[in-house]
Amino acid sequence: MGFILPQYLDCPSVYACSECKAHIARIDDVISRTFQGRHGRAYLTEAVVNEKLGACEDRLLMTGIHTVCDLCCIVCDSVVGWKYIRAHDRSQQYKEGRYVLEQSRIFYVDNRTEPVSSSTATGTTGGWHNMGLGARSPLLSR
Ligand SMILES: [Zn+2]
Repeated sequence: MGFILPQYLDCPSVYACSECKAHIARIDDVISRTFQGRHGRAYLTEAVVNEKLGACEDRLLMTGIHTVCDLCCIVCDSVVGWKYIRAHDRSQQYKEGRYVLEQSRIFYVDNRTEPVSSSTATGTTGGWHNMGLGARSPLLSR
C-alpha cells in the first residue's frame, strides 16, 4: 500500500482537512456548531471520512469527564478533532460515537456555485454548549 486515496464526498458542501484538503465531513452531518474545541470553536458531527483514531484519554471538558480519542486525518496525520468514546455524565451520552471537528483545523468547501456564508453560527436547541466566544477555559467544569 503506502498510498492512501482519500474518499471524496460528492455533496454540495463539505469540511476538509486544512493541511491536505482531504474531505472530512459533510456539512449536512453537523449536529451542532456551538462546541468549544481546544483551539476555539468546534463542530459536533455524526459521521466523518478519511479519519483514523489516535491516542485515547479521559479528558475533563466543560460538561464533565469524557473518554475521547484524537481524530486524525488518514492522509496527513493532522489532528482535526476528537471522537467521543464515552461520556461519564448521562446527560452527555448523546455525544458517544460522534465527532468534534476543530474549526481551526478544517476548512469549508463549497461545491456549489453560489456563495454561502461560512460563519453560520446558528444556535442549537436546548442551549447545549452555547458558550459564546467568551474567554472561558475549555477545561473549566461547569
Ligand atoms: Zn489531512
